Amino acid sequence: MSELPGRLVLLGHPVAHSLSPRFQNAALRAAGIPLVYEAIDVPPQALRRTLSELASVRASGNVTIPHKEDVAACCQRLTPLAQRCGAVNTFWHDDGQLVGDNTDVGGVDAIAALLLGDARPTATVALLGAGGSAAAVVAAVERWGDAHVRLYNRNVDRAHLLAARFGAIVDVVHSVEEALDGAALVVNATPVGLKDDAFPVPVRALPREAAVFDLVYRANETAWVRAAREAGHRAADGEGMLVEQGALSFERWFGMAPDRDAMWRALR
Ligand code: NAP
Repeated sequence: MSELPGRLVLLGHPVAHSLSPRFQNAALRAAGIPLVYEAIDVPPQALRRTLSELASVRASGNVTIPHKEDVAACCQRLTPLAQRCGAVNTFWHDDGQLVGDNTDVGGVDAIAALLLGDARPTATVALLGAGGSAAAVVAAVERWGDAHVRLYNRNVDRAHLLAARFGAIVDVVHSVEEALDGAALVVNATPVGLKDDAFPVPVRALPREAAVFDLVYRANETAWVRAAREAGHRAADGEGMLVEQGALSFERWFGMAPDRDAMWRALR
């Protein structure tokens, strides 16, 4: 293992609700690493000052809403994936430089592999939402081969901005129905269903063979995922992605795989 960081933190605003400290601390204990993963609430105006304090102790960590793009702008080095997404969810210090990566992409990829199996290379993905997590979905799909994305967002200008960064693999469409046409995977990258049982798409509108991936997670899954599964669709909520992006972050920080079972036990 390389030299340990001085601190291990999650930067967000708000951040108190995050499940990351629970499973990251379980992984640290399982690996015998003498660090505590702390969530720090950082208002936007305090981000740069916080990053310079963290640099002085060579901290590593994660970044969540609303700081992913701003931390990317502050990094001296970005991995190709962080560059592609324009967003950083994982950082560390190397040779005096702040380095940013994006493990949300790997988190998306892992769950899509479970849901689609061998069908990924040619899949049509209906993507709802055009924010930071939608960018991670497109960056994942881009690596699958000939797969492509039908992107719907209520603010169509934002959809076009995202599509312009990725080129021909993304078609912007103007209705949910158009997005669903021929989709093998339907991805919710909006917060719909986070605070209540709202569905981003009625289950009866899903293509019969489509799998469902809800980036949102709640205790006992989201209502949409439960209803889709009851209707016979393969379906997963965002919890698996959350754990996988965290496991990939752990690998970046410590150069070793965490005990994923310990991480899952901490959540259950
Ligand atoms: P974001 O950058 O704020 O983007 C949110 C997107 O959702 C925007 O495209 C926005 O559309 C759209 N939206 C917001 N409210 C909506 C509504 N009521 N109806 C329809 N569209 C709506 O957020 P993000 O970082 O992409 O995160 C989106 C969600 O993904 C989060 O709420 C979180 O639950 C989940 N997430 C999960 C993980 C995980 O590890 N599982 C990781 C990251 C995010 P406009 O452009 O029109 O405003």
